[in-house]
Formats: sequence, structure tokens, C-alpha cells
Amino acid sequence: DASWEAFYRVVLLGDPGVGKTSLASLFAEKQDRDLQEQLGENVYERTLTVDGEDTTLVVVDTWEAENLGDSWSHELCLQVGSAYVIVYSIADRGSFESASELRIQLRRTHQADHVPIILVGNKADLARCREVSVEEGRACAVVFDCKFIETSAALQHNVAELFEGVVRQLRLRRRGS
Ligand code: GDP
Repeated sequence: DASWEAFYRVVLLGDPGVGKTSLASLFAEKQDRDLQEQLGENVYERTLTVDGEDTTLVVVDTWEAENLGDSWSHELCLQVGSAYVIVYSIADRGSFESASELRIQLRRTHQADHVPIILVGNKADLARCREVSVEEGRACAVVFDCKFIETSAALQHNVAELFEGVVRQLRLRRRGS
């Protein structure tokens, strides 16, 4: 049945300024205007061909939307994802600590179901300002049982790989492996 796998909702989480909107914009690069108007602000849709198969992702970047700033909508964000991308900046240790807290919150809202979670260390281009090592990011992902990737939205490095990874994780889950 193709209908239930028609699309997956991917929710971006993370502190202000870590690069969520930049990553979402790169994802949505080739999106047409009519579709963007239908979806509304901060929501992006694109069909990716990964390993020869098409999958549509709807990327939701509403964690900090002004009209949704209350705790209820944060709660909603934590519930509606088919997958979650938790972003921190490698140049901001506070945002790394927030990422851990978000992972714990997600564990609460998704106790039984194993939703894919990808931990993303963005701003990998800021090597001289690095406050979180690659090893720490990787170790955190192991502890929290999620995938890990470092990206740079500024250099467009690993951004395609990030969203392809999300698709692969969603498929693994769908197939129950
Ligand atoms: P958000 O608040 O998480 O949505 O973050 P934004 O996408 O608005 O980015 C916040 C700031 O960080 C902006 O000035 C971006 O240009 C910058 N930024 C985002 N990604 C990167 C990156 O990979 N490297 C660098 N150097 N700056 C970035």
C-alpha cells in the first residue's frame, strides 16, 4: 500500500541559531512556489530518490516559530514526527547540552515506538571555534541510540547526506529491522 508511506514528517529541533532554517532551506532548494504557499511558512516538502526508490519528506521547522512559541506547540512538535533531526552547533557547547535534553524529552513522548533520531553537529566549517569534538558527538549518539552526522550548511557539506540518511532510517524502521 503506497498511501501510508506517501510522506514522512521530519521535525527539526535544537537551540536558536544552530542552523535549522539554513539546513531546511538547502533541503527545499528546488521547491516550487505554489507548493510552498500550500504548505505555509517553515514547512518544506521534497521527494528524494535514495537507493533507487522515491520517498517524500515533509520537513518541519516550527520549533521556534513566533506564533508557536508556547509549551503546547513544543509538545506538539515532539509528537508529530515520523523522524527527528536534533541540531546543535559544534561551536556552541550549550546547544550540545540542549540536544541531550531534547533527546530525553523525545524518549518521554515516544516510549514505545522507535522513531528515528539523527543528531546533527552543524557549523562544522567553524573549526577554530569548535567547542564539541567529533568524538563527543559520536559518543553522545551511541548513548542516546541515534545516528550522528556533522554538517555545514554554510559550505553545503553533508546536507544531502543528512536527509538521505533520514530516508534510510525511516525505511529500516518501516521494514521492522
Ligand atoms: P536556526 O535559528 O537554528 O534556524 O538557525 P539559522 O539557520 O537561522 O542560522 C543561524 C545563523 O547561523 C545564521 O547567521 C546562519 O547563516 C548561520 N549558519 C547556519 N549554518 C551554518 C554553518 O554551517 N556554518 C556557519 N559558519 N554558519 C552557519
